[in-house]
Amino acid sequence: MSHHYDAIIIGSGIGGGGVGTLLAHAGWKVLVLEKNKLIGGRCISYDRSGCVMDLGWHFYCLGKVGPLQEILNRVGLPDSIPWNDLNGTSYIQIGKVAKKYSKQSMYEAAAEDEQDNFKALFRAVFTITDEELDKLWYVPVRDWVQTFTTDKMANTLIESFVSQYFCVPSDEASATEFIRAFRDVMANRATSYPSGGNYSVPTAYIEAIRQFGGVVKTDTAVEKILVENGVAVGVRTEAGEEFRAPVVISNADLKLSVLKLAGEEHFPKDYIEKVKGLTYSCHGVMLRVLLSEKVTSKQVVIYIPDDQSPPCKVTEEMKAGKVPALIGGCFGSPTEFDPRLAPEGKQMITSLHACPEDIREHIDEWRESLMRSFYEVYPEAHGKVEKVWVDPPSLIRGMAGETGAIIGIGQTIHQVHEKRPSVVSPLKGLYFASSEAGGHGIGTELAATSALELFARLQPMTADVLARRQESAIA
Ligand SMILES: Cc1cc2nc3c(=O)[nH]c(=O)nc-3n(C[C@H](O)[C@H](O)[C@H](O)COP(=O)(O)OP(=O)(O)OC[C@H]3O[C@@H](n4cnc5c(N)ncnc54)[C@H](O)[C@@H]3O)c2cc1C
Repeated sequence: MSHHYDAIIIGSGIGGGGVGTLLAHAGWKVLVLEKNKLIGGRCISYDRSGCVMDLGWHFYCLGKVGPLQEILNRVGLPDSIPWNDLNGTSYIQIGKVAKKYSKQSMYEAAAEDEQDNFKALFRAVFTITDEELDKLWYVPVRDWVQTFTTDKMANTLIESFVSQYFCVPSDEASATEFIRAFRDVMANRATSYPSGGNYSVPTAYIEAIRQFGGVVKTDTAVEKILVENGVAVGVRTEAGEEFRAPVVISNADLKLSVLKLAGEEHFPKDYIEKVKGLTYSCHGVMLRVLLSEKVTSKQVVIYIPDDQSPPCKVTEEMKAGKVPALIGGCFGSPTEFDPRLAPEGKQMITSLHACPEDIREHIDEWRESLMRSFYEVYPEAHGKVEKVWVDPPSLIRGMAGETGAIIGIGQTIHQVHEKRPSVVSPLKGLYFASSEAGGHGIGTELAATSALELFARLQPMTADVLARRQESAIA
């Protein structure tokens, strides 16, 4: 038996939920198929030992002024995400010294005789013209930074932002992507974490889709994208059910969508070569610590053990199987945004650190090193730790697929802007909305801009799609 829709979306991550919201609001009959029991992809939050845990601890860098919110503004649901802005208790800790997050504290990280050069870099971020910016898409961030300063800590600090934003190293990340993202984050000061945990964001989209008449089926994995006469016409699920639509949008891994769900025989050879060569962002390990009582009011601490260890960068040492004594990372306390995320009176601290793709063999060493780093940041937590969880990339792989990478297709100089896979595939009827195709910006916001970009391409088809549905209903 087959069912007809205007658009079928494979996956309920930010890209899928985002474009589904926009299409459903525009009158399209939308079907979302999600393989997991929970919606949200990498933004899943779930209950564990009475705590709400995010699959990945996320900050939404532009919060209520960014593309995640833009989608909801456009459909008349501006209050759907309960954003909580940072409250001024964000810190950068270098070694043992923690300073409030500010431009000044960043300048002071550089050697005294390099601080003016470092300031010039910050000035350039805000004053660079669009024309100049356009020339830097394929220039690595590191090369651009070194035109201002070679100071070791200044470079480590920028590397730490690059690797937190894009999860690729600064000698591979695009200078234009970085400058735009850094400028937006610094200028808007709108970085947020929502009440209810990360899940509140994809939930807002899925509820909007339902409100506008769309259908969302969880626990329903797509096994095949159906292709007839060179056109994608629908999908078949693992349970053997078929759904048909003139527009099929994959929010799932682009490589998987092209090579497995559709099949490489349906695409031009050079496209397949390009897809096979795409590389992912790096992987991450999450530490979660439940404390018997509140020990800190710091919402966020970016921890940099020394100038050799930018947080969120996979080092050569790690790749060789060695676990560093101290590991840089982004620490934060979800309960400082929403106390209901842990049992009453307790505090949850979570952190994200880059790591190789598979650390299961060395998990005990990682745990020791992560806890050592945790106590460097929160010495006051000694004696108050109730529970510790260490979640390796395999958890993300299980929930979101791909290789378990943090973002998806990495924003390297070979994979941004005109070199990024398009939201429109060469197979007629097949499109992408995710942090794998089109878009720009950081993580979830990359996926949201991809959804907005795809909607702009599909919107002109609305009249045709709706007329076609009416015709098939009459027939
Ligand atoms: C640990 C971690 C920390 C992060 N921190 C941040 C952060 O602080 N800020 C930020 O902005 N971003 C962060 N990110 C990145 C961000 O989560 C992702 O970039 C973004 O959520 C990806 O969205 P997406 O639309 O590409 O879809 P995904 O989240 O990849 O979702 C794809 C969906 O497709 C489904 N699917 C796959 N195959 C099938 C199939 N065959 N049938 C049906 N469904 C299928 C999957 O189950 C999944 O639900 C982090 C990610 C991780 C893992």
